[in-house]
Amino acid sequence: MARVAIAGSTGSIGKQTLDVIRSAREGEHQVVALSVNSSVDEVVAQARMFKPAIVVVSDKEAREKVARELKTTDPKIEVVAEPEQMSVIADVVVNGVVGFAGLSVTMAALKNGKRLALANKESLIAAGPIVAPLRKIAGAEIIPVDSEHCAIHQCMRSSQNQSRDVQRLLLTASGGPFRGKNLESLKNVSVKEALAHPTWSMGPKITIDSSTLMNKGLEVIEAHELFGVGYDSIDVVVHPQSIVHSMVEFRDGATIAQLSMPDMKLPIAYALEYPNRSTSSFGAIDWTTLSRLDFEKPDRDTFRCLDLAYQAGRIGGSAPAWLSAANEVAVESFLAGGVKWSQISSIIEATLQHHDGQIPMSVEDILEADRLARDWARKEIRV
Ligand code: MG
Repeated sequence: MARVAIAGSTGSIGKQTLDVIRSAREGEHQVVALSVNSSVDEVVAQARMFKPAIVVVSDKEAREKVARELKTTDPKIEVVAEPEQMSVIADVVVNGVVGFAGLSVTMAALKNGKRLALANKESLIAAGPIVAPLRKIAGAEIIPVDSEHCAIHQCMRSSQNQSRDVQRLLLTASGGPFRGKNLESLKNVSVKEALAHPTWSMGPKITIDSSTLMNKGLEVIEAHELFGVGYDSIDVVVHPQSIVHSMVEFRDGATIAQLSMPDMKLPIAYALEYPNRSTSSFGAIDWTTLSRLDFEKPDRDTFRCLDLAYQAGRIGGSAPAWLSAANEVAVESFLAGGVKWSQISSIIEATLQHHDGQIPMSVEDILEADRLARDWARKEIRV
């Protein structure tokens, strides 16, 4: 039985993790901790159903409400402010927190020598140089919950010597809702149009990132960090059906791919069960109805975020942190109606011009890089 802590339990990944745990065999997993920012009603309902030992609520007012609610029905559940304790009592920490805020969960899980089922790509991207050494701690390991990286993780298992055998990683991209469109026709797209993802149902931030291809750009950096493969050996292939979740090409010419219907429960269950295979099946393909798989090159002129991510990744140091922070600011502003969709890449590009070339050595350095980049991005939005 694995004791599972879920950070971001009321978000898309968090809810699906609870679904996976519910559909597993009785007693296979035990939810020991849940964490949220401020969703009171939802986390109270989750806590009443799964009976964790602790519930972490970041927002003070929300925390007081959750504590009051749970006191009446489940007085044994401890309601706390800090996420650190989650990693102490869990075997697996699922990090489904959205954005940079997920960094503390990532760090705590690895420091405590636990398995990190990582869906929060930003913490790895922004803090790559800080997170990398923590992975050497005994027991600490990252199993990616991102579908592409989970696919690569699976493909890699066909080689006994990855550093020798891997030629190329091929990350697949659905292309998002605007695939095939040019910049001119995308000038005035609405938030609703950008949120209409053709194949995946996800949270708003990542859905917008998919529409700009920044999600794929961040995933290129994530793949570099996770698998230690150079940027010249990571390619992006647009695959609109989202059935091939990514591929690895080996030095003998063989390409290994992982295929399944788009369902995040498969990568979640994989991360909980690895090195075993889950007893629950998610996303198995019906080959009598699947008739074709298409592949095409990404349109790098319309979707400029992809190349911006490669640039930031190649610079390294705090550049990916700047990229991710500027993107968060630009996307928030787009969702709030402050800027146009087409401005997202321009804001990020302009922000990166101010990058100071710092190599982060500590969490404080990362926070400082994040703060600086956000300041610049907000300035770029105002001009
Ligand atoms: Mg992904």
